[in-house]
Amino acid sequence: MRISIRVKWTSLISAVILAAYLIVAYVAYQTVDNVASASVAHGFYIKLIWVGIIVVIAGIAVSFAAVTMVLRNIKAINETIDDLNKKPDSDSRIKLRKRNDEIYDLTININKMLDRMQAYTNQQKEFVEDVSHELRTPVAVLEGHLSMLQRWGKDDPEVLNDSINSSLQELKRMQSLIQEMLDLTRVEQIDNEYLSQTTEVKPLFKQVYNDFKMLHPDFVVNYDDDIQDGSEVRIYRNHLEQVLVILLDNAFKYSGDRKEINLAASTNEALLEIVVQDYGVGIAKNDLKRVFNRFYRVDKARSRKRGGNGLGLSIASRLIEIYKGTITVESVVGSGTVFRIELPIVQDGIDADQESDDTNSKKSKRNSKKARSH
Ligand code: ADP
Repeated sequence: MRISIRVKWTSLISAVILAAYLIVAYVAYQTVDNVASASVAHGFYIKLIWVGIIVVIAGIAVSFAAVTMVLRNIKAINETIDDLNKKPDSDSRIKLRKRNDEIYDLTININKMLDRMQAYTNQQKEFVEDVSHELRTPVAVLEGHLSMLQRWGKDDPEVLNDSINSSLQELKRMQSLIQEMLDLTRVEQIDNEYLSQTTEVKPLFKQVYNDFKMLHPDFVVNYDDDIQDGSEVRIYRNHLEQVLVILLDNAFKYSGDRKEINLAASTNEALLEIVVQDYGVGIAKNDLKRVFNRFYRVDKARSRKRGGNGLGLSIASRLIEIYKGTITVESVVGSGTVFRIELPIVQDGIDADQESDDTNSKKSKRNSKKARSH
């Protein structure tokens, strides 16, 4: 029972019992006083006083039990918080028996908050570990080249030239790594201002296609635009462009000898679907699940050579997730890869899938009303 209801009922019942006792005591006192002898009346008054004392003691005992139960639960909460203060990364959580009261609800909320905070701290810790691991290689390469130059490269123009070129290359890699890491952190901080933005898909899709066609004249890019004129999706324009650039960049980067890419987009009433397909190296089944993980590269050496940091797909998938879309991948090693994105279409300022959910729930409410009235 809820504590507020329990307190109300306990007070009400105590008041009623006390009032009943006082009325009965008064009536009995009047009657006994009129009809009984002095000694009988005396015995009766003594009994009346004892009953009164028992009623008061029972009341105190009931209140004491109720307060003790509440305090025991608060003590459990306090002990867990103490535990966490001593060991912040501990898995300790408040354990209470399931009850339908406010303290139990509070416990559930505190436990949920602790889970969220722990997940966030773990994420930050992993991120710092990943970043330092990723920066270790370019820093070590740079250090190697500079030490070589310091020892004997200064006087050898060939070594000097090679080392300077390699060092510059590593510096560029670090620059792109830092830029992508910043992009990833920015994605985590997207605020409501962006979440409410919409983008007209057709012109953006066309512009990205033209940019890539110009950048890769040696490729055949098949372009299939089946987007309804004026279709809008709920995503900030630059974010959709960023996702398309990441997928297309990868398609070009990981294409083998067959320099052909398919870029297609279509809309229906509820969704925009974008497909980016290449006929390149492909991704093995075991790696498919992990390509969206931060810093994951199927072939570290090959990806590094092509300037990959393993962050592009995690940025893309996080962006799509934030805007309530989906991103999926299918691939066959040696045959190629297909990435598919779906995003909700916006109609009259309302997300189409939400609208159809609302319509469905309205319909089902109407149907259940009808069923009841039949
Ligand atoms: P990177 O910057 O290394 O390309 P991504 O996060 O974009 O990082 O991709 C993660 C990994 O997924 C890549 O290192 C690559 O191994 C694999 N990958 C991504 N796209 C493709 C693709 N179109 N074809 C083959 N492998 C791909």
